Amino acid sequence: MSLYKSNEDVEIQRKSCLMVSKTLTEIAKMIKPGIQTIKLDDFAFEFIKDNGGFPSFKGYHGFPYSLCISVNEQVVHGFPSSYELKEGDIVSVDCGVYMNGFHGDHAYTFILGEVEQAVLDLVRVTKEAVYLGAEQAIVGNRAGDIAYAIEHHTNGKHGYGVVRELVGHGVGKQMHEDPQVPNYGRRGTLKKLQENMVLAIEPMINLGTRQVDFWDDGWTVVTRDGKPSVHFEHDVCVRQGKAEILSDYAPIEAAEKQNINLNSSYY
Ligand code: MG
Ligand code: MG
Repeated sequence: MSLYKSNEDVEIQRKSCLMVSKTLTEIAKMIKPGIQTIKLDDFAFEFIKDNGGFPSFKGYHGFPYSLCISVNEQVVHGFPSSYELKEGDIVSVDCGVYMNGFHGDHAYTFILGEVEQAVLDLVRVTKEAVYLGAEQAIVGNRAGDIAYAIEHHTNGKHGYGVVRELVGHGVGKQMHEDPQVPNYGRRGTLKKLQENMVLAIEPMINLGTRQVDFWDDGWTVVTRDGKPSVHFEHDVCVRQGKAEILSDYAPIEAAEKQNINLNSSYY
């Protein structure tokens, strides 16, 4: 599969990425204690379709939903369900949109109400890590430079568990394309980054052990020690000199700050 993307391709893909951001912004407005996570999924399905896209995840290798909603010790790929969110939950919402031939795929972790300082720190550090990884997405670097930046910040500086079983990836006409972008590794290793590659950079960081288990539903990934896990994901275009993030957290953060049920005190 060709990795080459023209500037025009990137502009088309940017719209898909921003449609994910818009969807997550709406989720940031409505998420609260007492809401069933399936209601967020129902909303996302309609919202994406009403805006001319299709939820990338729905039907992807049989995945039944539009969003992955992973609460507390769930790392990624959690199923929306009748579970009612409650005060103290941390909720990672991962969303994909397919539109005009390209996918966008990014994620954000929300905090409902009061949590321990250790959890606030985990969320902050993981969010910092997605940006530190993104900064490395420049021509001349390799995927290992992104991997190292994320691992160094989260594990090296803070001692968190870096999940290894799941990795970031190229994203474009396919939701998962080359190259793989792990969240651990050595500088100067793995695939060379080429101009206009779009990478889904997505640290999955655990408060405790990096070990994870897979549920029998075939999807849900949980921490082995039951401690919380955080997931942030941005779509990042490889450029000369300075990486360009195509997805946008600004409207999500604005909605997060407006929503009195959400805790954004970590940043
Ligand atoms: Mg994702
Ligand atoms: Mg992804």
